[in-house]
Amino acid sequence: MKRMIIAIDGYSACGKSTLAKALGKVLHFAYIDTGAMYRAVTLYFLRHSVDLNDVKQVQNALANIEIHFERQKTGNHVFLNGEDIETEIRKMYVSESVSQVAVLSDVRRQMVRLQQAMGQRRSLIMDGRDIGTVVFPKADLKIFLTADPTIRTKRRVDELKSKGQIIDFEAVKQNLLERDRIDSTRSDSPLRQAEDAILIDNTQLTPDEQLQKVLELVAVLDKQLVF
Ligand code: C5P
Repeated sequence: MKRMIIAIDGYSACGKSTLAKALGKVLHFAYIDTGAMYRAVTLYFLRHSVDLNDVKQVQNALANIEIHFERQKTGNHVFLNGEDIETEIRKMYVSESVSQVAVLSDVRRQMVRLQQAMGQRRSLIMDGRDIGTVVFPKADLKIFLTADPTIRTKRRVDELKSKGQIIDFEAVKQNLLERDRIDSTRSDSPLRQAEDAILIDNTQLTPDEQLQKVLELVAVLDKQLVF
């Protein structure tokens, strides 16, 4: 298989990471969940009561943050300054603050730099909001995922339930819609479909049907890529 960068963008809880993880397994590519990186920064800011309106405080906090991923039995885990925070960052209090942190240009600059470094010299699947537009504008394949908001909410509630978190359906739905609103309207790298991205609405698709669709695209691309 040729070296390839696959960018997956889309709205909150659209199944981006489900697709990216499955692709990574089948293709033996590394997978990076960039949402986890913004969530890690948010967790640090919350723990240290960083004032988002104070540029100096934000910059000082960013200078003290080290984020990396480690492969564990249960998948890729994100680490913040050496601590495995994979479980903590999925909690609602982090979801409720992450989009406000992700609008900050200082935060974005640092995360994008890290993400681009991860894509050097290897095949990679990366999911997020600005991967096809900003992080890897020359990605070999760009997918933009969307799905009906009620279905997305149901999937997220089920996922949280399976992790032992009992969350109100409406609260989750409001959080998804509010994050989509902030992510789509921010001035620095707003969430939008790249012109050359392929749109997939997975409202009616099972995870496997979605995976097969993308694998067909990858197979065509693999024949076309010439080195
Ligand atoms: O993907 P996930 O839902 O975990 O992302 C959490 C939040 O991180 C998003 O709602 C968005 O505010 C931010 N994000 C971003 N750019 C990315 C990935 C995530 O702004 N590339």
